[in-house]
Amino acid sequence: RKEEVSRHQQVLDMAQAHYARSLKQSPEAVRYLKQRGVTGEFAARFGLGWAGHDRRGLAAVFPNYEEPVLVESGLVIESEDGRRYDRFRERIMFPIRNQRGSLIGFGGRIIGKGEPKYLNSPETPLFSKGNELYGLWEARTAIRGEGHVLVVEGYMDVVGLAQHGVGNAVATLGTATTPAHIQKLLRASSKIVFSFDGDKAGRRAAWRALLACLPLLRDDISMRFLFLPADHDPDSYIREYGAEAFKATVAEAMALSRFMLEELASHHAMDEPEGRAACVHEAKPLFDLLPAGALRMQIEREFARLVQLTPEELAQMFRGVPDAQP
Ligand code: ATP
Ligand code: MN
Ligand code: MN
Ligand code: MN
Repeated sequence: RKEEVSRHQQVLDMAQAHYARSLKQSPEAVRYLKQRGVTGEFAARFGLGWAGHDRRGLAAVFPNYEEPVLVESGLVIESEDGRRYDRFRERIMFPIRNQRGSLIGFGGRIIGKGEPKYLNSPETPLFSKGNELYGLWEARTAIRGEGHVLVVEGYMDVVGLAQHGVGNAVATLGTATTPAHIQKLLRASSKIVFSFDGDKAGRRAAWRALLACLPLLRDDISMRFLFLPADHDPDSYIREYGAEAFKATVAEAMALSRFMLEELASHHAMDEPEGRAACVHEAKPLFDLLPAGALRMQIEREFARLVQLTPEELAQMFRGVPDAQP
């Protein structure tokens, strides 16, 4: 078992070295990164690479292409008829490391047209998407320096922010933020700022992240949400407006409590008793997730005002009183 894992590790490291070498030798891949504002220095810092056009490009580093670990590590795909080929082709390769710095998988972005835009390693004994955050290892020093960690959606957001001097960003790997992510983040910093894309999907991702945060809220933790203009993500925003403007939006990020209350209110007609009652019912399971403490009391008090109940009436609604719905 242990030997298998270490061969798996070795294979990933060899593939990464191969992809990084290939990047240097590929004018089209270098051109793509340059055009997105990524310099050689930052490509090297993140270990970026290039998986070329060859169906069996990795055979150059793995002469025994039939070795089972190539398939188990997700680098090679075996089709129904038993033929094998590289999973990643014509893609910029983003090595994904765990918090100890060991390589555990890859994300690959297609250059030019083609589907899917991003492809990740499959789930393997080393790689579990719902647990890992891209860039956490690379960002560790900057997170300590800045005193907070930024959570963004994409690989290019992490690299683009770092390129502009904002090195404390990590990304979820194309999945919703999970409680496991939050626990990992809280080990790195007690201050988390979520900065998802300004589109509808980003807003939904922020709400899902909020739900993952609620059970882990403590009075000494700060979680904030940053909403960018609708047509921007952190990478495009910092490229267009610069690092100072981006940092200013981070400094003004919305407190979790405000996002939670504004979002809840936006779901209902708050100028009518019916709407406010429905809002109380939607809110109850969210408040149930919140651990007892000063922060929950504070949010409950504001929510009571929002739904025009006294704090005592709200407490009665949330605890004790049987549900009057049929
Ligand atoms: P780019 O700037 O390179 O176009 P992006 O990171 O802005 O990419 P988004 O569409 O905003 O791309 O997606 C955010 C993240 O979601 C990606 O970085 C990737 O991790 C994941 N993702 C996006 N599209 C896909 C896809 N088709 N398959 C798997 N994951 C995806
Ligand atoms: Mn998006
Ligand atoms: Mn982008
Ligand atoms: Mn994006």
